[in-house]
Amino acid sequence: MPELPEVHTVASALNKLLIGKAFEKIEIFTEKLRLPLSPLLDSKLLNQPIIDVRRRGRYIVIELSGGIALTVHLGMTGVFREAKVSDERRKHEHVIFHLNDGHQLRFECPRRFSSIVSSVLEHPGGEPSMLKKLGVEPLKPDFTASYLYQQLQKRKCAIKIALMDNQIVVGIGNIYAAEILFKSGISPLRPANRITMKDCAALVKNTCSILNAAIKAGGTTFSDYRQLDGSEGKFVRELLVYGRKGLPCVNCTTPIETISHGGRTSFYCPKCQK
Ligand SMILES: [Zn+2]
Repeated sequence: MPELPEVHTVASALNKLLIGKAFEKIEIFTEKLRLPLSPLLDSKLLNQPIIDVRRRGRYIVIELSGGIALTVHLGMTGVFREAKVSDERRKHEHVIFHLNDGHQLRFECPRRFSSIVSSVLEHPGGEPSMLKKLGVEPLKPDFTASYLYQQLQKRKCAIKIALMDNQIVVGIGNIYAAEILFKSGISPLRPANRITMKDCAALVKNTCSILNAAIKAGGTTFSDYRQLDGSEGKFVRELLVYGRKGLPCVNCTTPIETISHGGRTSFYCPKCQK
């Protein structure tokens, strides 16, 4: 599933592609993804200049002048693609946005866990109401060691589950949680309320460095995720622990192990991570 670096990459590309343009027509070919698509047929979305495209957590917010925004969640397999009018529609392309420059932006999603929702913003640059409960952004200054420590003190769950909790910090999923914990020398199973302030400082530092490096590489492609031009995210080559079961740890050569908890597989080094 796309995590922060992947969504960030897509939002940046959409920002470059869409700003100053408008939707001339929106076609839907499917009744619903995770949520109904019919609100996209509202004529209020048409011919309004697109003034901003930004990321919040794992959501992409496409803001139109006039105070309306489309909020997109890519789910497991959602992909945007630039297309020409003459391109044949692929089977899982559920929405075609016709742009006023004669090009198209298409949204493809085989597994349909994605969503595209329109909402009215309270003010320009405002946050769609569905995003108001999200926790802090990991790359913003309010994600500090003391904030994280305070949040973790209240929780008995495993640290990995806490790092993936969007009410604490947004955008971190299974891949980046594994990488952050490995680099911090912390077992994914350690209870959140037994993480020290020193650990929190390491977690915050490594979260920033790993997410920034992944953004630079255009994210991580394991299966479906693609950049807007169809290319894969290249951070997969820089993963130190995720996907490396049985391979030697890059620090100590102990074979990387996996455990299953919370319905997800965790990759870790039993020697380096305590
Ligand atoms: Zn190791």
